[in-house]
Amino acid sequence: MNIIKKKEFLFKKISFLKGVGNKIENYLKNKNIEKVSDLLLHLPYSFTDRSKVFNTNNLEVGTIATLKIKIIKYNFPRKRNLPNTIVGEDKFGKVNLVYFNTNEFYLRRILKINSNVVVSGKVNYYNNKFQIVNPDYISKDNDINDFQKVTPKYSLTDGMNKKIYKKIINQVLLQMPNLEEWIDKNIIQEEKFLSWKETISNLHENNDEDLNRKLKRRLAYDEILAHMIIISKDRFFSKKLKKSKKDFTDEYQNIIIKNLDFKLTNNQNKIIDEINIDLKSRNRMFRILQGDVGSGKTIISLICASNVIKSGYQCALMAPTEILAKQHYNLTKSLFNKIGISVGFISGNLALKEKREIINKISNGKIDFIIGTHSLFQKNVHFKKLGFVIIDEQHKFGVKQRMSLSKKGNNDCDILLMSATPIPRTMILSAYGDIDVSKLTEKPKKRKDILTYSKNEKNLNQVINIIKKETNLGNQIFWVCPLIEESNILDFSSVKKRYKHLEKIFKKNITLLHGGLDLIEKDKLLNDFANKKFNILISTTVIEVGVDFPDANLIIIENADKFGLAQLHQLRGRVGRGNKQGICILIFKKNLTKNAIKRIKILKETTDGFKIAEEDLKLRGFGDILGFKQSGNKYFKFADPSSDQILFEKAIMQIKDIKKDKKFFDKYKTLLRIFDKAEISFNPETF
Ligand code: ADP
Ligand code: MG
Repeated sequence: MNIIKKKEFLFKKISFLKGVGNKIENYLKNKNIEKVSDLLLHLPYSFTDRSKVFNTNNLEVGTIATLKIKIIKYNFPRKRNLPNTIVGEDKFGKVNLVYFNTNEFYLRRILKINSNVVVSGKVNYYNNKFQIVNPDYISKDNDINDFQKVTPKYSLTDGMNKKIYKKIINQVLLQMPNLEEWIDKNIIQEEKFLSWKETISNLHENNDEDLNRKLKRRLAYDEILAHMIIISKDRFFSKKLKKSKKDFTDEYQNIIIKNLDFKLTNNQNKIIDEINIDLKSRNRMFRILQGDVGSGKTIISLICASNVIKSGYQCALMAPTEILAKQHYNLTKSLFNKIGISVGFISGNLALKEKREIINKISNGKIDFIIGTHSLFQKNVHFKKLGFVIIDEQHKFGVKQRMSLSKKGNNDCDILLMSATPIPRTMILSAYGDIDVSKLTEKPKKRKDILTYSKNEKNLNQVINIIKKETNLGNQIFWVCPLIEESNILDFSSVKKRYKHLEKIFKKNITLLHGGLDLIEKDKLLNDFANKKFNILISTTVIEVGVDFPDANLIIIENADKFGLAQLHQLRGRVGRGNKQGICILIFKKNLTKNAIKRIKILKETTDGFKIAEEDLKLRGFGDILGFKQSGNKYFKFADPSSDQILFEKAIMQIKDIKKDKKFFDKYKTLLRIFDKAEISFNPETF
């Protein structure tokens, strides 16, 4: 085979390599390895080290050991299926070498009586004796240098012959080309990075954990750099496309504000102004509104939407759950009908005929403002003139879902994401590139911080007494039981069991809300709760996001250790939205994990959503928070946004001139191609 010393070698399909046939190609394809560079980025997960020589008295079952022994005895049973055994010894004791299905004469030849040999293999214990079954290596001349002392272990080899895989990877390592450096000189110096080639070959060959950690930092930087270039590039191109300005007076806005039964905070007013400026400008708005649960984001988005409608465009608001979408719809209808704006609702649960009607009205412009769930972005929904997309609780949606909605609006469409999980800076950077951020930090007046307690399940009676007290005061209570996933089946039984238990105590004052109810049933139930026909609502986590009940002031969360921090904070935010003191009681069983104890402690200590998000990031890792895990994307292979902030900042510095230089991308072509098929499967495009 020709040796190609060019970078193109990296992008050859692996079938190009010696020893890679159809079968191996398909097998590796399933593991996301298609081109040569993918093989190189698939690093060993650990190494087998045979360099240290063990004595027969310090062997450990299950480990790989190298021994220097003298062969002293054979045991070749003349029965089928019984293994041949060869006894060896050193100064400290004996060890058996056990061979299944191996020819006796061959063994006599390679392991002569009284000869000194070095053997290496996995240690076992059988019949009170240490043994090595089918040793991996034997060297005749008592010379340890006869065999490779450190060998990499790859996670793929479960479904593949290790030796074949090793041959393939060795072949690739040998032919690896030198590449032109794409990292800035200064950063190379500061970080003491090796070249890409040296980094990769070391990582495949060296068994030095400390060193490897440093080497991987370069790959993390490469990965971050590639990622930031890709998302910035898309933003760059989308920003180049100018939109039409939205012209409006503040007529609608003023009517809505006048009809509110509260005064907007300064912070809310400031953000409304910011957004209005964006709407009126020729640049497409791409903005995320971050604010803690209950901080009053919805009204901001609605006021701005009224302006967009005034300017002659349609608006769409997408919420992650049906209940939340319905609540937004009801609120919007009550505010907008006074002005004569027509508001529509769409969800997957609508009857077919109804849905068709709504879709018609969207396409002929009879609906100005459509509110719904992810049904909004379905293929058959076409807008007459969409000018503003609002996505509530954006992290609950998959990237593709968010993208497909924004695409419905051509280039005139401004985009506002809303998030109650205040996302740390690295996460915003890595998910969206240079998105504009509005932060809503001022809480509506009179709102008090929620008090958080934790209680052991044993003391449930105390909790029940608290509930009795609260309901007597006319307050309402949420009781949340998480659905626990057991072997992919969601377990409803815990919720039902708890409901039956509490029903005996609270009779008609308690109702169960669960995912099995249809939209109409759910709506009725929530309406009844809002109208205080009953005061205790027991549910799974369907009330998790956004839903608003002003009289609810107490939330009980069972199995609190099963929830993530951000999720608990969200749930806690369901109560104390009116003027009453909110209380949250976390119930747990004994045997909490360390992490769970930490989570509960953090929640008790702070109600600052930004702080909680950062702690959550540290405890749970990146993917979970943005919901990318749900959408099936593993985000980064080498980088870790919770600890690699510095690398993110450096990458942004390195590509800060991305807009000015047309030839900019040439320098990074190889880098981008290397990571093209690697784990960055997430490409936010305009989002
Ligand atoms: P979130 O930011 O979590 O989406 P919402 O927009 O649902 O919060 O607002 C929570 C509650 O606070 C709503 O009942 C809303 O009417 C109310 N609210 C919003 N702004 C104010 C304000 N400035 N003063 C008093 N109440 C407000
Ligand atoms: Mg909300």
